[in-house]
Amino acid sequence: MGSNSMKTECCMRVRAAHLAREYADIKEEIDLAIEHVLGSGWHIMGEHGRRFEDDFTRYLGTRFGVGVNSGSDALYIALCSLGVRRGDEVITVSETFVSTVDAVARNGATPVFVDIDPRTYCMDSSIVEAAITERTRALIPVHLYGHPCKMDEIMEIANRHNLRVIEDASQAHGAEFSGRKVGAFGDIGCFSFYPTKNLGAYGDSGMIVTNDEYLAEQSRRIRNYGQTSKYCHDFIGVNSRMDEIQAAILGAKLRHLDSWNSRRREVAKIYQAELDASLAHLPIEMSYAKHVYHQYVVGIECRDQVVEEMKRVGVECGIHYPIPVHLQKAYLSTAKPITLPVTESVSRTCISLPMSPYLTSDEALTAVSALEEAISSLSR
Ligand SMILES: *Cc1c(COP(=O)(O)O)cnc(C)c1O
Repeated sequence: MGSNSMKTECCMRVRAAHLAREYADIKEEIDLAIEHVLGSGWHIMGEHGRRFEDDFTRYLGTRFGVGVNSGSDALYIALCSLGVRRGDEVITVSETFVSTVDAVARNGATPVFVDIDPRTYCMDSSIVEAAITERTRALIPVHLYGHPCKMDEIMEIANRHNLRVIEDASQAHGAEFSGRKVGAFGDIGCFSFYPTKNLGAYGDSGMIVTNDEYLAEQSRRIRNYGQTSKYCHDFIGVNSRMDEIQAAILGAKLRHLDSWNSRRREVAKIYQAELDASLAHLPIEMSYAKHVYHQYVVGIECRDQVVEEMKRVGVECGIHYPIPVHLQKAYLSTAKPITLPVTESVSRTCISLPMSPYLTSDEALTAVSALEEAISSLSR
């Protein structure tokens, strides 16, 4: 172990995520998967990639899966395959990771932001219709922190206005809306397999899922230099493929996803039971939802001081996200200016407590007391 990680290990009592523990737990399966790929001598676009596309789409209940290099590229290629381009508007949220919106801008289209529902932190479907213009082409709801968006209402609006829907499910592998897995509702679902996601590779990876054969084929061509057949390029694509090592690792890890999500839900239950709801705004799970707690996010005043104080006593928290996308420098001139009161208030108050399937119950309790002590020391 390097001296850097030693140092963080001993001053941090509770880390935010635990990938080394995960690897120690499933080392044999992972090592075997990697050896398989290395022994095959085939590293890009081979049997492991195809098998993982099949396994993951079977898990979700969609027809097609197209493995790509990252969640960001999944979103970019998804919009490309739908023909979204300059002059088009795409409605999405500002309370998300920036790359949801980057995908719109990279296609030359204009992102249009709507505010979020303060209960779920997801796109507020009741205000989407007011944002639709004759230029609107698509909606990108984001299943933020692992809670599903209200997909019945979103699909109904999209159908009424003839809009396409791309779900950003990068934080919601296995989450369900009314008993159906998210990613399978829209025209296209996009997933990131960044290492800390609920299902993560040991590097960058992502996937596009769809029931539409044309969109799947088009995405396959775009991810592979716009190639229609060997060395024939009818349009300009990109190089964005899932490599075989990541596919083999993801295939091995997919078998654990449901039990890992169950453990995340148990950790959430501990937080829910132990945290004083008068000190922090706690997340809720709507009756239609199965939440997979990619993050367990609470809302508190004096957030920045609380995070600092928790860090001082050795509990690592995250902030998702401190600056909403519509207030990022990159978007001040590209997106329509707008005020989003709920989004802006969440960005000031949100704090992500340590959360992973490998967080122990004792560590969760340590995080709870550190949070409560930090809050009361600040109010003294
Ligand atoms: C992680 C994430 C992405 C980007 O995925 P990468 O694989 O890191 O490119 C996009 N959207 C959301 C909501 C994410 O959480």
